[in-house]
Amino acid sequence: MLNKEEINNIKTELLKRKEDFGQQLKKIAKKDQEIKDNYRTSFPNYGNEDEDNAAEVSVYDSTLSLEGKLELELRKINVALDKINKGQKYGICENCGKEIEKERLKAYPQASKCITCAKKNNK
Ligand SMILES: [Zn+2]
Repeated sequence: MLNKEEINNIKTELLKRKEDFGQQLKKIAKKDQEIKDNYRTSFPNYGNEDEDNAAEVSVYDSTLSLEGKLELELRKINVALDKINKGQKYGICENCGKEIEKERLKAYPQASKCITCAKKNNK
């Protein structure tokens, strides 16, 4: 089990990451006014030639996938912070109910699954 100090360290780390991911998102996307915690990727504009348009689409695609990843991580971070703040069981695998390995939580504090379940899910 994580002790209070470890939880506090993890909380600090999560807040740091939240800030960091938020900054990265702001650079590539605009905050959605209608949906909370959602971001919209802004479409680049290089010009009106075919070549420009093709470049815009490819940049948009990669930005979109990066945005999606950042958004997903940000959501996980918020869920983890919420659990800690509400005194709910943080660090419990949502799949098997076992404790998530301490080392994993230190490296990836927003983890919602233990290593075994995370590996299974990736297959
Ligand atoms: Zn598990």
